[in-house]
Amino acid sequence: MAGLKGWRELPLGGVVLGGTARELNKTGSWRAERPIWYVEKCIHCLQCWLHCPDNSILVQGGKMTGIDYEHCKGCGVCAAICPKDAIAMVPERSGECARP
Ligand code: SF4
Ligand code: SF4
Repeated sequence: MAGLKGWRELPLGGVVLGGTARELNKTGSWRAERPIWYVEKCIHCLQCWLHCPDNSILVQGGKMTGIDYEHCKGCGVCAAICPKDAIAMVPERSGECARP
């Protein structure tokens, strides 16, 4: 272990705080799948909003209003957590968008 630096001598690493994508960058460009929202099935329980890691579920007045595709990374958590199957993941190239 001779020659290795001690931890106090190592350069400081960077820190990226969680939930900052909206302020920093559009991060939806590398998505392979996109979530599609079926408003007619939605009961506005906001479970998707609560679990989305990218703050990409749009809500107004306590109701879901859509999906922010500029920041959604297509992880599928919202579709998996939705109790009413009101969100489905489709290939990004399909060109479908959140409804309405
Ligand atoms: S989890 Fe499903 S039902 Fe609940 S607000 Fe989201 S889309 Fe609507
Ligand atoms: S696919 Fe992932 S990032 Fe996109 S809205 Fe759903 S939970 Fe959020």
